[in-house]
Amino acid sequence: ETGMKTDIQIAQEAEMKHIREVAEGAGIAEAELEFYGKYKAKLSDELWERIKDREDGKLVLVTAINPTPAGEGKTTISVGLGQAFAKLGKKSVIALREPSLGPCFGIKGGAAGGGYSQVVPMEDLNLHFTGDFHAITSANNLLAAMLDNHIQQGNALGIDPRQIVWKRCVDMNDRVLRNIVVGLGRKTDGMVREDHFVITVASEIMAILCLADDLADLKKRLGRIIVAYNFNGDPVTADDLQATGAMTALLKDAIKPNLIQTLEHTPALVHGGPFANIAHGCNSVRATKMALKLGDIAVTEAGFGADLGAEKFFDIKCRMAGLKPDAVVLVATVRALKYNGGVAKADLAEENLDALAKGIVNLEKHIENIQKYGVPVVVTLNSFVSDTDAENAFIEKFCHDHNCEFALSEVWEKGGEGGIALAEKVLETLETKESHFHPLYSEELSLKDKIRTIAQEIYGARDVVYEPAASKQIAKIEEMGFSDFPVCMAKNQYSLSDDAKKLGRPENFDIHIREVYVSAGAGFVVALTGAVMTMPGLPKVPAANGIDVTDDGKITGLF
Ligand code: ADP
Ligand code: MG
Repeated sequence: ETGMKTDIQIAQEAEMKHIREVAEGAGIAEAELEFYGKYKAKLSDELWERIKDREDGKLVLVTAINPTPAGEGKTTISVGLGQAFAKLGKKSVIALREPSLGPCFGIKGGAAGGGYSQVVPMEDLNLHFTGDFHAITSANNLLAAMLDNHIQQGNALGIDPRQIVWKRCVDMNDRVLRNIVVGLGRKTDGMVREDHFVITVASEIMAILCLADDLADLKKRLGRIIVAYNFNGDPVTADDLQATGAMTALLKDAIKPNLIQTLEHTPALVHGGPFANIAHGCNSVRATKMALKLGDIAVTEAGFGADLGAEKFFDIKCRMAGLKPDAVVLVATVRALKYNGGVAKADLAEENLDALAKGIVNLEKHIENIQKYGVPVVVTLNSFVSDTDAENAFIEKFCHDHNCEFALSEVWEKGGEGGIALAEKVLETLETKESHFHPLYSEELSLKDKIRTIAQEIYGARDVVYEPAASKQIAKIEEMGFSDFPVCMAKNQYSLSDDAKKLGRPENFDIHIREVYVSAGAGFVVALTGAVMTMPGLPKVPAANGIDVTDDGKITGLF
């Protein structure tokens, strides 16, 4: 660690350009920007109107193998690859998710990339940014407040308080809010009932914001949100509560993509941020479409491993938005492969070829999975200083033996320069290998068949086991007419199975479905597997303990 700078030190030393100049480089006029200070801007609807009929650039998805708790560098690689394309004279635009405060103050830290492949200003991005998450939280909680008020004021819709499905949200890891009681006190303090919070990044409003085509579509989707069931068992929606207009008003700016820059001034659209374990895990459709119009190449990231982020990118986002990915970059790290081979977190920096050989089956499975979607794949090894030549050589040979393109990435250490080899490999792939993208399953399958297809094909499961309540929920959702929705699987990110301890490429396991609900506005059905939770908690020593601000306003300890 001698003399090595932290992410925040590197970010704070960066000489940022005024965002007007970054925009200009991407062919965006000043009048098409809505400034949030000097280094952040939202992109206006006028810009979209001007460029929407252009031909799309190429779409490159960055995904990864199953990670260690620290993250394996997808954002770092996405940023570094975007910078490398720019060095090769390509017009590249990066499309990423906005970070959540939960992981920022929890275990993982921020999500602006790392080393010399970061987007800046990283403190803004990791903390309040342009207020999108606050807007989403407010819209979510307005709906909750209107729902409880409706019951208080006479309950004309006949809402069954035992069948309220809408939850409050906050962008924080706060386990005590998972199960709470609201309405305690007197008659004027509301109806007493059990309530729940989810983290904002798991809220249906986040998914809606990310999947909506435009403001009109956003409003339609918000109106369709099911908040509860009445005493007859029929759904009650946001439209029924007359909440849709006010929620849309809260979100009218949040739906506009945010423009910032990388350390090398490459344009980056950072917009929306659903988690990939408990939500669909992709930045907004609007940002991705904008990136495809502005650049020759759009580089986008989906969260966690390819079993979660990439699956939902393909089967939910691309299906709904009509996107056709041209190539996939699959990020692996020596340390995650060793982790998958059974090495403890504390020992990951030591060379261990046996563990690597054991853990590499995880990479193998993810390569096979992406091939099922018909998209060409390039494996990249995100190089850490602790990696040894023997370890690198082993992985490179494994890829060659599996007929898979491979490139080493040194973008964390060297910025765009360290990503040239990968960028060239991706360009060669885009030129020589055609994408035959298709989703994994057809919309016409029943919900249980969709879930089984994902579990068997992507996770490698033997079968799917349903709690009786989950089976009943599925029957009800199909009866309501939502059987053609894709499924948004909620699963832990560490294992291909629903048991976080089964690493590598587990076999002979079943996937356990605990709960199923419909997100009628987002347009998918959520299936909760294993013990996955929609409100995380903080660890024993949260990252927040190390964050501070100097008297002159400089933030420290954010990573
Ligand atoms: P992901 O997007 O896959 O979750 P990130 O790109 O956010 O991962 O990286 C997670 C953390 O790992 C960041 O703190 C980043 O600085 C660090 N990191 C990424 N790549 C490297 C590397 N090659 N060497 C050292 N640290 C790295
Ligand atoms: Mg990331």
